Formats: sequence, C-alpha cells, structure tokens
Amino acid sequence: MTAFVHSGDVPRLPDSTVPLSEVIAKATAGAALTEVDALSLLDAGSDSIQKLCAAAAFMRDQSKGNIVTFSPKVFIPLTHMCRDFCGYCTFRKDPQQAGKDIYMTPEQVLDVASAGAAMGCTEALFTLGERPEQRYPEAKEWLEHRGFKTTLEYLTHVCELVLSETKMLPHANPGTMARREIAALQPFNPSMGLMLESTSEALYAVGGPHEFAPSKRPRVRLRTLELAGQLRVPFTTGILIGIGETRRDRIESLVAIADLKAQHGHVQEVIIQNFRAKPLTAMGDFPDAETDELLWTVAVARLILGPNANIQVPPNLSAKDYHIYLDAGINDWGGVSPLTIDFVNPEAPWPALTDLKNKTEAAGFELRPRLPVYPEYFLNTKDFLPDALQQKVSALADSEGYVQGGMQRYASKF
Ligand code: SF4
Repeated sequence: MTAFVHSGDVPRLPDSTVPLSEVIAKATAGAALTEVDALSLLDAGSDSIQKLCAAAAFMRDQSKGNIVTFSPKVFIPLTHMCRDFCGYCTFRKDPQQAGKDIYMTPEQVLDVASAGAAMGCTEALFTLGERPEQRYPEAKEWLEHRGFKTTLEYLTHVCELVLSETKMLPHANPGTMARREIAALQPFNPSMGLMLESTSEALYAVGGPHEFAPSKRPRVRLRTLELAGQLRVPFTTGILIGIGETRRDRIESLVAIADLKAQHGHVQEVIIQNFRAKPLTAMGDFPDAETDELLWTVAVARLILGPNANIQVPPNLSAKDYHIYLDAGINDWGGVSPLTIDFVNPEAPWPALTDLKNKTEAAGFELRPRLPVYPEYFLNTKDFLPDALQQKVSALADSEGYVQGGMQRYASKF
C-alpha cells in the first residue's frame, strides 16, 4: 500500500466502490488490499460481521495453523508521571500523587524482574509516562541526582541492567522516541512498542481525549514507528477503539500500519485494544467499546494486515468472553502476568493461565508461550537483532522460537 497525503497531518483515503465480496475474496486469496479495497470494508453492516470474521479466521488458520500465543511477563511501571493528559487515563500521576516513589529505583526494577524470571516469565514490560522531566522539576531533579538527563536515558540504563542481571528480556514502551533514543535502547530490547492509537485528527481537537496530549498527535507517533523501521527494531503497535474515532478512522489507522509493515517489515504485532471507561477521568461517562465493534475491527485488521500479521486482543479487557475474538482472526493474547497487575487497566485482572489455556483449547487451538520478540524476527534471520541480543534471545527459545520448556514451565506457577 502507498500512503498519500491530504491537507491534514496524516493520509486520508478516498471513498470506495469495490464490492465487499470482491475484497474478501482478494484478501483470503492472500493478495494485499489497496486503500480503496480497505475502505469498502466500511460497508459491512452488522449482518456482514460474521462474513468478515470467517474470512479473517480463515486467513489466520492458513498462516498460523492452530497455534495461539501469549507472552509471560511482568509489568514494570518505571514512572507514572507524564507530561501529557489523556482523557481516559488513570495511569498518570503528578509528583504529589506519586509520593516519594516518583521513579522505580534500579533495585526495585531488578526485584520485580527477578521475581518474574523465577516464575518462568521472559518479558519485562516497561510502560511509563511520556517525558515527565519536561513538565515536572521533581522528575528532572530525581534524574539529575542519579546522572541522567532524561527518562529515556534512565530507562536505557535499567533495561541494560535487566538484560545483564536476569533471564528476562526488556520490552520498552516509553512513548514517542527520537532516532537516537531508539538506537540507545536497541541493544537491550529485542522489541519495543508504541500504540498508534488512532490517526484521527478529531481526537486532538478541543474537547477530544488527546487535546492536552501532544505526544498523541498521529504524525509524531507515525514518525516513531517509521524510525523504528529504519533502525530494524521489531515493533509492537496497535489501535485503541471506542475513544471517539469512526470506523473509517480505524481503517485509515490500520492502513497506515500496513504501509509501515510493508515498507520495513518490523511491525511484529498489532494490538486491537478496546476502550474501557474509568471513573474520575474526563471520559468516565463514555460507554465501553462494544463487542460488535471490537469483532468488526479485529476482522478488518486481519484483512488489511494480511495472513502473516500477528494480531492481538488483550484478554483481560474482555474478561467475560475473550475467547470469541479467536473467531475474528487473532493469534495472540499478548502479555499475561502471574505477578503484576495491568497498571494501565488496574480494574481488569489477567485471566488465570489455566483459564486462558482451557478457552484457547476449547476453540481448537494450542496455547504456546512466546518471547517478547516473535520467532520470525530471530529464527533463521540476522536481519533485526544485534548479535549479542540474538544470542541471549536464542538461548531462551526452543527450536521453533517459542519459550523453551513450553507450557510445562508454568505447570504450578500461575
Ligand atoms: S495515556 Fe499515556 S500519554 Fe496519556 S496521560 Fe496516560 S500515561 Fe500519559
């Protein structure tokens, strides 16, 4: 796909007149959709969702067989401080709310990572607020006192520590990054991540959820994704649905991701995350994203991103019926932790591993633990990981590139 530019920040697509059945036939035959094809998916009424899901599931089966993965992880919220204010966020805290622990210390980080390794986890997920030192003198002082100019410099330091002192692999999600910041993190992170969320410009207009979040500008986020591609970093991204964007916005966001994936090959997985309203936020009264909207979006994501894409729905955000998204073409559940909560969605506990396994198997799939980097980025290729990292990752993997020891590893630990 080739992006094209309109008067705003990000590409908009033209209207489509291609019949839906033609587009489904094209996608299931393994051909890449054009932007015009992708827009025809908009026509799908509620009676077409089943058709889209069946096509998406067929494409997944052709490429992934019956394997569905998850990443056994610990969640490390290095800092809750953030320069931005998003209308749905309960993760961010100002220094007064954060109290004395405005950043986790290296000792605290290593304690969590080591405890995770002891339970058989392999991913140390670093999620943190965006550049708090640009807003809060307390953050700047904390960093300077320890010899760091920025949060990203400190993050690089603790990622190096975790990689060298534990059997965990860091996966950094620090928000938008410059080229040199990605390059600094690269030797210690076999993959990194940044949710695109949406290319919708309306979301940062007055009253929108991103009005006071400069780092959520689509152009800035797409730039980080592009830089990661240029640097050959396996990268996780995704979209957030139900925050005021339209279906057309979602298609445009997915097309933008597909463009980057086609250009650089580094988009290792795409998360389709549903919005859940949280009390005491600006969007506290908004309805949660509807199940049909999530099904439609997951299936459309598979059709646009193709059979080889890794597509994930977080099971803890659809606790009642998460297994239904297997019918819409996903092949991954993302990170699941036996030790730490989902600090971004603290009200949503991870499913027990036995539940995840039982539901996955009941739908006819085999559940496998994976590393934070997918096998196709290190097994039989040296195109992505630096040599030292490749060796460390390979030492944790089995012959198919999944976590060594498989599900047996967690027999009594989750
Ligand atoms: S969602 Fe992320 S960027 Fe937005 S306020 Fe929360 S921590 Fe900051």
